[in-house]
Amino acid sequence: MSITKLAVYCSSSDHIKKSYFDHADALGALMAANNIDLIYGGGMVGLMGQVAKSIKNHRGKTIGVVPEALRIDGVVNTIDDELIITPDMHTRKAKMIKLADGFIGLAGGFGTLEEMLEVMTLKQLGYHEKPIVFLNTEGYYNHLFEMFEHIYAESFAKPDYRQLYHICETPEAAIKYLANYQPPNLPDKWFV
Ligand code: AMP
Repeated sequence: MSITKLAVYCSSSDHIKKSYFDHADALGALMAANNIDLIYGGGMVGLMGQVAKSIKNHRGKTIGVVPEALRIDGVVNTIDDELIITPDMHTRKAKMIKLADGFIGLAGGFGTLEEMLEVMTLKQLGYHEKPIVFLNTEGYYNHLFEMFEHIYAESFAKPDYRQLYHICETPEAAIKYLANYQPPNLPDKWFV
């Protein structure tokens, strides 16, 4: 399964530590080097803006998918090869999921979390078999992974669902995982 388009979900905040930007930068460079196009929220802000800038600096391709309401000067990126405007947020998320061959979450807030959990939920229900990677910069998501373990321990999800997603500590490891990805054989969601 080769990945040519990767959806990157990540922070829209600029007020975060430099190490998060460094990973966004490195991921962009690796994506361009491996001919992987960026599918993203089309923002020029935060880590979103950093990944896109890095890809363009390395002659890669970026596709922004922006809902009409977020088409705001100073927020929407102007460097993209393609800008897709959708009527609303739901259409935008569905479009990103359809276009991408895989998903990676960098550090982020509620928007990023929602996007990552949505693609995990859809994979759990068998709507897709695409890879999902957390880039766990500075252990940012450790508390979330503890929550996931709590979910398994309390039988709100099957422990096999650890295979829904993969955790990487570096952009290099993430790209390597994506290049070698084979969809897992997951059990039915239901406990019946
Ligand atoms: P957050 O993690 O809350 O900063 O939200 C970032 C995620 O939500 C990104 O992956 C985007 O897809 C989406 N998003 C949030 N704010 C914006 C924005 N101003 N422009 C484009 N996408 C955004």
